[in-house]
Amino acid sequence: MLTSKTNILAQKLNLKERKLTLRWLLALSSLPLFGIYAAFAIAPQTAIEDIEISTVIEEITLPQALPNELPALQTENGFTSESFWQVEQVRRDDTLASVLNRLNINNQDAITFLRSHPDASPLSTQLRPGRSIQAETNSLGELIQLEYEIDSANTLIVERAADGYRAYKNESALETLPTLKSAEITSSLFAATDAANIPDRIAIQMAEIFSSEIDFHTDLRKGDHFNVVYESQYRDGQLVKSGLVLAAEFTNQGKTHRAILYRNPEGQVSYYTPEGKSLHKSFLRSPLEFSRISSGFSMGRFHPVLQKMRAHKGVDFAAPTGTRIKASSDGIVSFIGVKGGYGKAIILKHQNNMSTLYGHLSRFAPGLRKGQKVSQGQIIGNVGMTGLATGPHLHYELLVNGRHVDPMKVALPTAASIAPKYRADFFARSTPLVAQLALLGASRVASIE
Ligand SMILES: [Zn+2]
Repeated sequence: MLTSKTNILAQKLNLKERKLTLRWLLALSSLPLFGIYAAFAIAPQTAIEDIEISTVIEEITLPQALPNELPALQTENGFTSESFWQVEQVRRDDTLASVLNRLNINNQDAITFLRSHPDASPLSTQLRPGRSIQAETNSLGELIQLEYEIDSANTLIVERAADGYRAYKNESALETLPTLKSAEITSSLFAATDAANIPDRIAIQMAEIFSSEIDFHTDLRKGDHFNVVYESQYRDGQLVKSGLVLAAEFTNQGKTHRAILYRNPEGQVSYYTPEGKSLHKSFLRSPLEFSRISSGFSMGRFHPVLQKMRAHKGVDFAAPTGTRIKASSDGIVSFIGVKGGYGKAIILKHQNNMSTLYGHLSRFAPGLRKGQKVSQGQIIGNVGMTGLATGPHLHYELLVNGRHVDPMKVALPTAASIAPKYRADFFARSTPLVAQLALLGASRVASIE
């Protein structure tokens, strides 16, 4: 099914290829130094009918991303000290090893603990499809924290302590309620989500949900806006944490994209358009992990530019050294090592004679080797400037039948629509969410006028 669609893509590409134009015109010119941020703060407990909307106006100084300030973003070993939350659902054919792989947990002491410590045993004995598992790691892939939803009332928490890891069950039931937020982009996604008090975890989930439609590093423009409905979890009326995005609507450069979470009766979770089309694509738009630092970096003067070198067949994504690089599709490592001007490079082979190349890396993901299978989104290495590079960036190429295509312009094959047997259930669940998005959109417009 996916295979045949990819074939069609490959055939179309030869025609399309000739029409490719430079997309990365220098759009860096005039960023204002100050922006006014308008956002709506809506109490999560409020019923939809009587939502009161308060507008928050905040003046924020935009960060000045000057090249000579970059070292401040990095730690002594040259990597950013950021941490990352990865949210995954257990799949039907998952093993603990495959889940930990997708969560990008690399350090052996964490893996050993999660596999064999008695306190962490629910991970081995109660791994159920559809359950949510989340992990926070640093840029080296070392586990900081992990949460696994054992059932509706119990969460397994794993934390890094001074002398290793510890795990415990959190048994007090959390109450989950939807939170509705709306905001407009003035400088960056995180500036907008900060102003609207939206957690980073939700901002990153939004970027991932729409990652096949929008590259959040490069596509965002002033005036873009979004509405989002997400889970917030409360204990005794106190907000404890945020959960999954339930529905989101993102208007980027005048085009509106919508996503609705659907958990089918078998417990599998996925995002669809309100019409029931899957948002999952076989290739990511951008192989860079979206994070606070990488987003700030490229929204400013480090906007990626398609270099005009004669032999240049790829896209360069400027990003700080250490920014994590994701496999843009499922595939097999066909090259890993030093490759001339590319420096440290990785080539992945994908289905249907497609391949991707990642160049100038500072390091490879620990243990990654030739012949290994990787899944979409898996971290394969970190941005650097090895080989012929004047500054830290990722050089990215996409080849179809051995010919270069512009990864930013290719029409990507989509995954299947919602299964016919679930359509009625999907629409029953999605209709109220779509209504909530529409209401948020109407409120936003009313407050601007
Ligand atoms: Zn390049």
